[in-house]
Amino acid sequence: MEYILALDQGTTSSRSIIFDKNGDVVSISRKELTQIYPKPGWVEQNPEEIWETQLSTIWQVIAKSQISPRDIKGIGITNQRETTVLWDKHTGKPIANAIVWQCRRTAEICEEIRNSNLKDYIYENTGLMVDAYFSASKIKWLLDEIPKAREKAEKGDLLFGTIDSWLIWNLTNGEIHATDFSNASRTMLYNIKELCWDSKILDALDIPDTILPEVKPSSGLFGHTADSVFDGREIPIAGVVGDQQAALFGQACFDKGMVKNTYGTGCFMLMNTGDKLVRSHNGLISTIAWGIENKIQYALEGSIFVAGAVVQWLRDELNLIDTAEESGKLACSVSDTGGVYIVPAFVGLGAPYWDMGCRGSIHGLTRGTGRAHIIRAALESIAYQTKDVLEAMESDSGFRLKSLKVDGGAAGNDFMMQFQSDILNVSVERPMVLETTALGAAFMAGMAVGVWVNQGDIISKRKTEKIFSPQMTDDERKRLYSGWKDAVKRTLKGDV
Ligand code: ADP
Repeated sequence: MEYILALDQGTTSSRSIIFDKNGDVVSISRKELTQIYPKPGWVEQNPEEIWETQLSTIWQVIAKSQISPRDIKGIGITNQRETTVLWDKHTGKPIANAIVWQCRRTAEICEEIRNSNLKDYIYENTGLMVDAYFSASKIKWLLDEIPKAREKAEKGDLLFGTIDSWLIWNLTNGEIHATDFSNASRTMLYNIKELCWDSKILDALDIPDTILPEVKPSSGLFGHTADSVFDGREIPIAGVVGDQQAALFGQACFDKGMVKNTYGTGCFMLMNTGDKLVRSHNGLISTIAWGIENKIQYALEGSIFVAGAVVQWLRDELNLIDTAEESGKLACSVSDTGGVYIVPAFVGLGAPYWDMGCRGSIHGLTRGTGRAHIIRAALESIAYQTKDVLEAMESDSGFRLKSLKVDGGAAGNDFMMQFQSDILNVSVERPMVLETTALGAAFMAGMAVGVWVNQGDIISKRKTEKIFSPQMTDDERKRLYSGWKDAVKRTLKGDV
């Protein structure tokens, strides 16, 4: 039997998963990662811990599945995006902790960039809004603040990488310094039109290009593992792709107009826009989905800040439920919310409203409002927010959604998925393998080493667990959604 090993290096844990030729999970191993919060709003991780936890899950998953490394035909890597590491080229030691994507320490640097004449250039050429999430300002901060860092960088002694590059470097024992198109497109330094590091942005931020990794196709040979990893056995690292793009691929959204939505703490929605770089008028990001054989596919990306987190809030702050799973049953115990809407703008509202100053609200309370109505309104709010972002994507791209592919923890909620289908008026497809991120990376690697021949082969391996079809009347859908829009309008700052 032939197997693919997927490394899924996420924000909270490092995981290794072995997939067989049918695309089924053979076994999984996972290790938590320490989160470091040196100051309010700052988030760091220790790069050496990232590597060590990843390596130990590799060994664990192989032992657990009782397969020989000989049968692993390739390795695919998927990773938390944007998180930034700088390390010494000669010793392999990081010069500081990794600055995690969530870290806000560079908000001021970004404010300065926004106020310069570079803002429009950056959006035009990287597809991104200037924000502290992306790697560029994090690199600048490290070069400015860590003693001698810029001097070393200028001499060519330092290397930069997002987590994929850091893992490749360690897996190959310092032989290969590379990344893929999808990860490069999250740095705010990569020109996604010209497909090169952007010298104008590099110059403006005073970042020497000597530190940058080589950018390669997401599916293809990056290098072979060093002797120390698999006891002398060299295994090709053959797929590399950022986590959300990996999920898009793992959901087989290969054609333009196809969309996946991941329902976790927040939601991440990506629409494949094919070989066309689509610009958003609604504040969505344009990004590279992947590059295969130097053919680039682009995506539009939108996120919802509070999705599954509203369920955690019901559980931990309101004590209305004991477990997240219970929410679905309770929501079904009433036939509707009785006119109640929750707008979970706990940290403001993102696309398409972009009001970071507004805060959450509950509307339509009556004497008859009970616990189940509130729970149902909270779950429905996730579906309404998804519709808001999807409408923005459809209007930006001109594509009409045919079906929505879903994954993530909260996609397990049948009530919510049915409501999602009803409110969008499209079918919602939930796959059998919910590990779509790891599966996407495995597919990238498997295609490069011949375990799977092409994308058609991958489609045949995917299994759908359940399809939810719309059952709501048009009138009902319109009535409910206009109630939501009204609640949002009242929530936006200055309009309450
Ligand atoms: P993340 O990757 O962001 O940690 P996960 O994909 O693990 O998120 O999903 C966890 C989130 O999904 C939590 O916010 C949790 O409240 C929510 N969740 C999990 N199961 C359910 C469920 N059955 N119904 C609604 N929400 C759920």
